[in-house]
Amino acid sequence: MDYLKLAEYFEELEKTSKRLEKTFIITKLLKDIIKEKDPELFINLIRGKVFPAWDERKIGVSDKIVIKALETSTGNSKEHINKLFSELGDLGEVAFELVKKKKQVTLQNVRLTVDLVYNNVRDLADLEGEGTVNKKIGLISELLTSATPLEAKFIVRLILEQMRTGAADSTLRDAIVWCFFSDKLRLSYEQSTNEFKLPDNNRKEYDLFVDKVQHGYDLTNDFAEVFKIIKEQGINALEKITLKAGKPINVMLYQKVKSVEEAFEVVGKNLALEYKYDGFRLQIHNNNGNILLYTRRLENVTKQFPDVVDLIKKTVKGENFILDAEIIGIDPVSHKWLSFQNISQRIKRKYDIEKLVKEVPVMVNVFDIISLNNESLISAPFVRRRNMIEKIVPNIPEKIQPAKQVVTDDIEAAKKFYEESLSLGNEGIMAKNLSGEYKPGSRVGYGVKIKPILDTLDLVIVKADHGEGKRAGWLTSFTVACQDSNGNLLEIGKVGSGLKEKEEEGTTFLEVTNLLKPLIISTEGKTVTIKPHVIIEVAFEEIQASNDSSSGFSLRFPRIVNLRSDKKVSDINYLDEIKITYDAQRGRNK
Ligand code: ATP
Repeated sequence: MDYLKLAEYFEELEKTSKRLEKTFIITKLLKDIIKEKDPELFINLIRGKVFPAWDERKIGVSDKIVIKALETSTGNSKEHINKLFSELGDLGEVAFELVKKKKQVTLQNVRLTVDLVYNNVRDLADLEGEGTVNKKIGLISELLTSATPLEAKFIVRLILEQMRTGAADSTLRDAIVWCFFSDKLRLSYEQSTNEFKLPDNNRKEYDLFVDKVQHGYDLTNDFAEVFKIIKEQGINALEKITLKAGKPINVMLYQKVKSVEEAFEVVGKNLALEYKYDGFRLQIHNNNGNILLYTRRLENVTKQFPDVVDLIKKTVKGENFILDAEIIGIDPVSHKWLSFQNISQRIKRKYDIEKLVKEVPVMVNVFDIISLNNESLISAPFVRRRNMIEKIVPNIPEKIQPAKQVVTDDIEAAKKFYEESLSLGNEGIMAKNLSGEYKPGSRVGYGVKIKPILDTLDLVIVKADHGEGKRAGWLTSFTVACQDSNGNLLEIGKVGSGLKEKEEEGTTFLEVTNLLKPLIISTEGKTVTIKPHVIIEVAFEEIQASNDSSSGFSLRFPRIVNLRSDKKVSDINYLDEIKITYDAQRGRNK
């Protein structure tokens, strides 16, 4: 396919904010590529990437490099390009304008195919060593020289990994269902009225297909693989996907309840209780002696934890497994358990790792097992999984252990366990149904977490204000957003306090400013609009109704308690959850 055709699809996607319409456009595109030899590359491109989600390679090109490539390929000065950039706030649009002007004078000669663009952009990620910057500029200029304005716009955005087409994972998932099963389900969509129709009696089957595709994705982390499996073997083949140690899978999540009583109601009486350690989740893979560690977002953090790699190698039995664990920091002097904040340094650190291993030693608490010796355990009941953990994971004080667990159906005993857990500095407890399966990616009722009333929210930063006086140079006040059930972001007010000025006191303004700066989309006065990416945990006194924010709510006395680098935008709190807390609060206040 010509890249231009794909760019036209992207343009169409960008023009609408309606999720159903986006699904329809992606469906058209998927139908177009069904016969392509390599649908993989198109599916990655729809996601705005040249690698699948499980592959953590980054393209690694900065705005600066793109600007240089634009200078070379369009003959404009850096000053002119920067000026346009500050006016338009997007280098993709800048590329569009510059190439448009140039094309009026020169004739385009090479036709860009999707293959060619994809492979060249992928090559950018593999460039290393001396002269890398120049090679990158050369490769990008080459592409831009042959591009039409629209192609240039989406080449630049692809390179910067900022597609802005709004093709969320859930939209792509639904489009895969529409693409293969519209006829079977008699599903129709009317673009002019944005109407989606499905005969009533087919609704259940439709939901089932969506669930199956989601399940396939949760296991593979790769929509291209899911697409290929359906195309070649049919939808039921998704159930037979085998798990491979070494390839991360989406983690199971838990609902939240407010009390031990509610936990028994949701989970049932057949349950186990565990400490909810306040640390960092790691998915631990052993692929025949090759240990790999992934975060909750499935980023590879193996290099940051040589001590954990070593420990797993030496102490856990089994050639081949995938474990789910929470690691917590241990104070080497007082031997107290440290909170998430302390351990988060270990995830960020790229140098002096050995020194940090000594300063913040960690303990591994294994709470689930997903596969053992090539047997997938996701359908095995939790009680069997726990038995396996106990068989292969030893109990070595301050090093590694199966998560502390009790099995009881006595509410009073459960309450005592909850108090004991809190008194040790844990966040609360987990209650898990002993017959529950491991459901990757979902928050099913097989398990719940019980924490003291919701007093923090995970929110994403969407705008920020430059500080003044002593704080000039930093971003110091942040507009944060939650999401609705379609993943649309809704603002819920501003938060300024909680960050520190000095590094030894905790997360600093400078640190957050450095994270946000590359994400600035546009500037207006002292306020910048930020590409939603950075998640913070915000504590508050109360949720208030508000006409000033798009969510309809704001927070009283908000303060930042943590940077949640382990979370994605899709993990932030939902408006519905905020409404529930708001209502519960009102109940309390009456
Ligand atoms: P939170 O923000 O409360 O940590 P979360 O959104 O990261 O929650 P949830 O699934 O809602 O994830 O809550 C469970 C989290 O608690 C897990 O992601 C894991 O990091 C942590 N955890 C600590 N101890 C346990 C345990 N024994 N079993 C399961 N999860 C545990």
